[in-house]
Amino acid sequence: MNELRIFAPATIANVSCGFDALGLCLDTVGDEMVIRKTDEKGIKISKLVGQDLPVETEKNVAGVAGMAMLNKLHISHGFEIEIYKNIKAGSGIGSSAASSAGTVWAMNELLGKPFSAKELVPFAMQGEKLASGTAHADNVAPALIGGFTLVRSYKPLDIIKIPTPDELYATVIHPQIEVKTSDSRSVLKENITLKKSIIQTGNLGGLISGLYTSDYNLIGRSLHDEIVEPLRSILIPGFNEVKENAIECGALGAGISGSGPSIFALSKGEKMAENVAYVMSETFKKLNIDYDVHVSKINTNGCRII
Ligand code: ADP
Repeated sequence: MNELRIFAPATIANVSCGFDALGLCLDTVGDEMVIRKTDEKGIKISKLVGQDLPVETEKNVAGVAGMAMLNKLHISHGFEIEIYKNIKAGSGIGSSAASSAGTVWAMNELLGKPFSAKELVPFAMQGEKLASGTAHADNVAPALIGGFTLVRSYKPLDIIKIPTPDELYATVIHPQIEVKTSDSRSVLKENITLKKSIIQTGNLGGLISGLYTSDYNLIGRSLHDEIVEPLRSILIPGFNEVKENAIECGALGAGISGSGPSIFALSKGEKMAENVAYVMSETFKKLNIDYDVHVSKINTNGCRII
């Protein structure tokens, strides 16, 4: 096998109460990539379709993640990558993570799986470091491992896969507004109060417990973010209305996807997730804001061959 075409999934990081720790993998939103072995050493991005992104190996997250993996291997050949982007960069659903994770996942398949999915995470994290300055794992871990993942610790890296209830669906809406990453970072505060930390800990514990026991009501009660959402949501016009309308319609909960501006909701059942997509869309329509909306089952496997 010298060539693979793969689906590299979009992901939702944070999931309300799990800031920088929790992430989930989507099934119907993602990029396609073709990875093939070449005689030439190194990584070459031979095609990039759908987004205006750099193709130089050291400027594209796919090249950086792939090189991080190659540097750990002693092989005499290299890889060529074609990237077909469906996920818009900066949308908050892990655009860079899809390319980083997809590259190392496909290379690993072509090499006969020398690494486990968890062992691939540090390579993909190097791509994230290029995109955002920090080697975070909350998008690449679910893209590689599937389902919900928890980054319990970075030093040492400890990633835990959390079970996904069968009927859990995500709705994600991407309003076509630009939120500068620098702004979404600068609104964050260095310190939080003990009171907020206690509320957040309770909710994160509740969410994890609800996922393990398929307790949809508990999942809904726990989808709250005391710390980041109140600060970041100011940057997303219509956020409060979209969230309130989604919950009123029957979503278990809703919040900011990653650093935004996408907003996600979780629902029990596909029908409800579709209804939620409708009310979220109507809210942005009334505000005259264009949007892309997606409904997706949670993808429990991560990247896959197509
Ligand atoms: P999101 O908000 O969707 O998570 P990212 O954090 O993934 O967005 O950031 C996208 C950034 O990464 C952009 O600055 C973009 O130029 C850079 N980048 C480099 N290579 C890629 C790639 N292959 N796919 C997407 N973004 C890339």
